Amino acid sequence: MANYKIIIEGDEQDEVFSTYEDAENYALYLVSCYHTGGKILEMSNPGDYSYDPNDDPEYEIVETDEAVKETDESIRIFQEVVNSPGVYDDDGEYIRCPNCGHGLHYYNGVKTCPECGSME
Ligand SMILES: [Zn+2]
Repeated sequence: MANYKIIIEGDEQDEVFSTYEDAENYALYLVSCYHTGGKILEMSNPGDYSYDPNDDPEYEIVETDEAVKETDESIRIFQEVVNSPGVYDDDGEYIRCPNCGHGLHYYNGVKTCPECGSME
C-alpha cells in the first residue's frame, strides 16, 4: 500500500504519511509555518524580501514506496487524536489538558491530550 509525501515549492519533505488526508493536514500546517516565517523574514529584512500573505506556497501530495518513519508516529497520533471527538463541558467548551491547556479529545474512548499525550 502506498504512503504519501509532500512536495512544497518543489522541495520534497522527509515526512511520510500513511494516508492522503494526513499528508494534506501536514501540508496545510507547513503552509501556516511559511506564513509565520515569511512575516518574521519581512520584519528582519524590510524591503529585501516581499512577503505576500495571500501567496500560498504550492504543494503537491505524491505517492511513495517509502515506509512511514518512526519519528512520524507522534505526528500521526497527534492527528488521530485531533480528528477524534472533542471532550466538552456542559457549556460546549473544550475541557482542557491540566498539563498544557490543549483541548482534550476522546481517543479510543479515553480523554487524551493530543499535545502532550496525557490521558485520563
Ligand atoms: Zn496536554
